[in-house]
Amino acid sequence: MDPREPMPKQEASERIKNFNEVALGYTEEQARREAERCIQCPKPLCVKGCPVDISIPEFIKLIVEGKYTEAARKIKEDDILPRMTGRVCPQEDQCEAQCVLGIKGSPIAIGRLERFVSDYEAENAEIEAPPVRAKKNKKVAVVGSGPAGLTVAADCARMGYDVKIFEALHKPGGVLAYGIPEFRLPKAIVGCEIEALKEMGVELECNVIIGRTITVEQLFEEGFDAIFLGLGAGLPRFLGVEGENLLGIYSANEFLTRINLMKAYKFPEYDTPINVGKKVAVIGGGNVAMDSARSAVRLGSEEVHIIYRRSRQEMPARNEEIENAEEEGVIFDLLVNPIGFAGDGKGWVKSVKLIKMELGEVDDSGRRRPIPIKGSDFFYDVETVVVAIGQKANPILLDATPEIKKNKWAYIDADGETGKTSMKGVFAGGDIVTGEATVIAAMGAGRKASRAIDEYLKTGKW
Ligand code: FAD
Ligand code: SF4
Repeated sequence: MDPREPMPKQEASERIKNFNEVALGYTEEQARREAERCIQCPKPLCVKGCPVDISIPEFIKLIVEGKYTEAARKIKEDDILPRMTGRVCPQEDQCEAQCVLGIKGSPIAIGRLERFVSDYEAENAEIEAPPVRAKKNKKVAVVGSGPAGLTVAADCARMGYDVKIFEALHKPGGVLAYGIPEFRLPKAIVGCEIEALKEMGVELECNVIIGRTITVEQLFEEGFDAIFLGLGAGLPRFLGVEGENLLGIYSANEFLTRINLMKAYKFPEYDTPINVGKKVAVIGGGNVAMDSARSAVRLGSEEVHIIYRRSRQEMPARNEEIENAEEEGVIFDLLVNPIGFAGDGKGWVKSVKLIKMELGEVDDSGRRRPIPIKGSDFFYDVETVVVAIGQKANPILLDATPEIKKNKWAYIDADGETGKTSMKGVFAGGDIVTGEATVIAAMGAGRKASRAIDEYLKTGKW
């Protein structure tokens, strides 16, 4: 069996000096060779692994025939943001994990092919705005412009509804804009997708916090007939240990927002600075931790450590991103957990107090539980710390709207199939319902909710 085509990348020694995209994308020849490996299964398991059921064999066949633009449009029937999902979806756990070729060899590089055709369409063909059906004279408000909100906006606009997106930040895109760094997802791509939505007639208003600037009730009073909440899970979690308020300790959320949204890496050309010391410790083992560590490397830190309480096997980050971080010189300190921070007497962090861990039985998360080893604590000098141990729901809108029921984790209690909440006319989906998940899962939830919104607005039945 032919091997899988490797992804061309910027050399590690070069890329640590810039924020440009690391993966360079397949050439046409590579894409054709990779597509030709697909055996066009009559019952394609890869599609079962895709949360939005992309017609994978069909779009791969179009690549073999050299019909790249048609292939991109085939994907867009199910996934409105293929340039983004082709780059950031965890395909190795989804479509590619199911591909039959993976049983004896390497699965088809479905994500890389998706990226190739959608980039090809953007660079070589007129991006075709999807047809918009006859106007229905009904208004849909979308709160939040992450992948869930963008999907609902696109779907509802296509169905003929008047759609307006309200976004709290000064730029749209949610995590795609403020979280995932430029070197994994260029912001120009996010901008292009937002422009495409505006061309479909979708209105966008930034710097509006629903629940504070205006309320959900006021949106109904202003004439919106249905509301979709795609608020994400943007509130950082902290460790809750002594010394965590010292200067030089950032939440990953603030650290990445300063870099991505405020362009701190271009300071003083842009207003917002970021202060990174020579030795940086990033706490956590997920994608957010890898993004933070790799950003710190690019900002010129001499030593960047990932501090994770389990072993590498349990790390939730994508393998590809762990490997990229290793190639870029990030040092992995595994089976250690922070239990406090000490200051330098002037308010800045000087060291982190760590304790060694060992792995016990498998816990509810399906991973082995980390257990502290008594008396094994020690201090470790650092100049900057980034806490990347997860996010939770931002309470602003939900506190102002008690009619919307929450679950025990303070996320919205919405129906998994329709996104209906406990408040009539209000739907929700994405991370604000499931907790931190993935871009494609948020888009899948958005698709289900838009179908339910259409049904509700057509029938009036709740
Ligand atoms: P979000 O993308 O969080 O968007 C929510 C938006 O709503 C935000 O813009 C927010 O400002 C806005 N908002 C919130 N409250 C209000 C309000 N009251 N009024 C107005 N606007 C409001 N997933 C992957 O699949 N692959 C990856 O590689 C990956 N890497 C990640 C890296 C980082 C650093 C982070 C943080 C997450 C990553 N994820 C990744 C997860 C993925 O980005 C999220 O699951 C996804 O973005 C969730 O989409 P969403 O639309 O639900 O919310
Ligand atoms: Fe092609 Fe793999 Fe899907 Fe079969 S499972 S159709 S080989 S991508």
